[in-house]
Amino acid sequence: MARTAVLGFPRIGADRELKVALEDHWAGRRTSDELQTTAREIRAANLRTAVNAGIDVLPVGDFALYDHVLDTAEMVSLIAERHGGAGAVGLPAHFLACRGADGVAPLEMTKWFDTNYHYLVPELTAEESFSLRAEKWVAHLAEAREEGFSAVTRPVVLGPLSLLLLCKGVPEPLTLLSDLAEVYGELLKALAAAGAREIQVDEPCLVLDRTDAELDGLVDAIDTLCASAPIEVCLATYFEGLDGKVLRRIERLPLAELHVDLVRAPDQLAAVLEALPAGARLSAGVIDGRNVWAADLDLALDRLDRIVERIGTDRLTIAPSCSLLHVPYSVAREDGIPREIHEWLAFGHEKLDELSLLARAVGADDGDRDELLVDARRRTAARRVSRLTNDEAVRARVAELRPYDYTRSRPIEQRLAAQHERLGLPELPTTTIGSFPQTPEIRAARRRRRADELDAESYDAFLREQIELVVREQEALGLDVLAHGEPERNDMVEYFGEQLDGFVFSAWGWVQSYGSRCVKPPMLFGDVSRPGPMTVRWWQAAQALTERPMKGMLTGPITILQWSFVRDDQPRRETCTQIALAIQDELRDLEAAGAAIIQVDEAALREGLPLRGSDQDDYVRWAIDCFRLTVAPAEPETQIHTHMCYSEFGEMIEHIARLDADVISIEASRSGMDLLDVFREFDYPGEIGPGIYDIHSPRVPSTDELDRLLELAEQRIGRERLWVNPDCGLKTRAWPETRAALANLVEVAHRRRLVQPEVQA
Ligand code: GLN
Ligand code: ZN
Repeated sequence: MARTAVLGFPRIGADRELKVALEDHWAGRRTSDELQTTAREIRAANLRTAVNAGIDVLPVGDFALYDHVLDTAEMVSLIAERHGGAGAVGLPAHFLACRGADGVAPLEMTKWFDTNYHYLVPELTAEESFSLRAEKWVAHLAEAREEGFSAVTRPVVLGPLSLLLLCKGVPEPLTLLSDLAEVYGELLKALAAAGAREIQVDEPCLVLDRTDAELDGLVDAIDTLCASAPIEVCLATYFEGLDGKVLRRIERLPLAELHVDLVRAPDQLAAVLEALPAGARLSAGVIDGRNVWAADLDLALDRLDRIVERIGTDRLTIAPSCSLLHVPYSVAREDGIPREIHEWLAFGHEKLDELSLLARAVGADDGDRDELLVDARRRTAARRVSRLTNDEAVRARVAELRPYDYTRSRPIEQRLAAQHERLGLPELPTTTIGSFPQTPEIRAARRRRRADELDAESYDAFLREQIELVVREQEALGLDVLAHGEPERNDMVEYFGEQLDGFVFSAWGWVQSYGSRCVKPPMLFGDVSRPGPMTVRWWQAAQALTERPMKGMLTGPITILQWSFVRDDQPRRETCTQIALAIQDELRDLEAAGAAIIQVDEAALREGLPLRGSDQDDYVRWAIDCFRLTVAPAEPETQIHTHMCYSEFGEMIEHIARLDADVISIEASRSGMDLLDVFREFDYPGEIGPGIYDIHSPRVPSTDELDRLLELAEQRIGRERLWVNPDCGLKTRAWPETRAALANLVEVAHRRRLVQPEVQA
């Protein structure tokens, strides 16, 4: 009989209990014991749900109060000196590393592969020495026993290779691998002594492009582990497939099980079967751990059948593609989602049921299989032919697209000349990225409107007041190009998703972004179109208040795609094209209403890069095409801005030029304008607003500091192409610091206009 396994659970709690408990604890309203009780309840509930669903192998030790990478670092005593060093114990030290304190920087945070989860980056030093602190794993194992879970409880740990590769601080982290593997060996001994029979060692870094030396290091490390204790080692990989280089090594490893992601990388299956070590089980990740859709079980069975044919059911483990950390808990309680669409969804709990169903179906004969799959098949078929996933008008429009639909009618030099004439802006024009402080009043009004305590008309009037306020503030500050402030938007993607056809929203579909922070991504289920204008009346209200140009403000198709749960029944590229056309409709309407400047934000362009270098070109090509399609119909004298939220620009610059935006604004202040060096070497044709004020902290930059950054920017970009603006939107800031910082920013721009520009070298 095949067995079923889960690689990891969501941990924020079905009602976000962990978020509440953490934030209460940090605010001093809950003791650490109370926090730990909540955490323990969440773990027990997860295990109980899986046991009830009939899952055979349960993960333990995957839970983390804040982040599993941090927990793994602590497990080997890898703790920065400023956070207490190797000897640090207890929650205060733990949270110091997460959140910092006065004068103590926290660990840096970065994206976990291509997910929207963020992990804390452990810091290595050259003389790092590791020692084991297995308490969490041993305790969680014991706890699962106490709760009476008799299924296989399998400790999960991030493996030594991936841990080192995810760290920063030393140029060659793998010199530490053999020392680290020794400590992992001790962990295995401790777990074996505590009764564990198998351990899941996650090595997601194996799916990235790896060097031979790295892979040889891994082989030694796994050998060390396997030799250390009488415990089965299950090596888990996910988010992409394993290439020949990796598989050649895996073949020789004494593994008990290998887990592969057959949702993202189904094509690896043949090679994986070929390379599976003798006698080892294959854990087939056939249920998507990254998305919210019910699986096509026939497709999954197709893959499972191929495995069974080769190695039999006894060596088969059926699993989600990766940890369920990246999906919400349960769709059962979502009663606001239309029934038709509800049937297509499977969150964490429903995925457990799918696993059990597959385990029963995989060994069954055709008749039994038909019976088991009736319901799932009906739903898959209904989704495939639904009007919601096949909007003829949308499909026809996409089919009719021609190459010229992706290009503006005039080249950039001509456009910029026409725009300068129309706008008549001064040198070094000042502007913001769009949003202004989302004050407690704005949030309260939004909440009351959602609860229907505020009628639509009053809410509308309130928003108009807010817009007027922001316009007056900007005029008083002396900014040149204004924004309406986005008070009507809770979130730059959700706001558009709510008004487009093709999206639904869950009430409880939270997933962890980092620490206690959760996001509730829109779910893009069908063909996308725009029933009517989304932003035009707000723009009109704002422009009517001022003589200065008011930017239209849109979120671009790539960012909407990237920050949603996206339908899995067609390529992302196609879905993105549909979104592009919907946003294009809005752009046309803004332009017709008189907007001279329209900004299309693509905060997530770089985030969408596939993990493997070989897939990146293709992504960049279609993603940028989608942006171009969105803005192509704009008249030459309409100025198109775009904003991007990151600073690693080097390898992206040519692509960014291909966006063909008239003006881009980018994050630059934290790098002290260093990233602008690429603009010296690369002849970038458009205008550029490198953020000179870091909005991520409430600190008000002085005029001296801003002036220095602006001067650096001028040296690299030249004054005639330079805009003056903050790094990003101001919505998380409060008014006092915003006002003060923008006043300094405007002053510096004004001051600089009086200075003769330096001649560029
Ligand atoms: N216009 C948006 C804002 O200012 C852009 C936000 C972003 O790039 N993340 O809030
Ligand atoms: Zn930004």
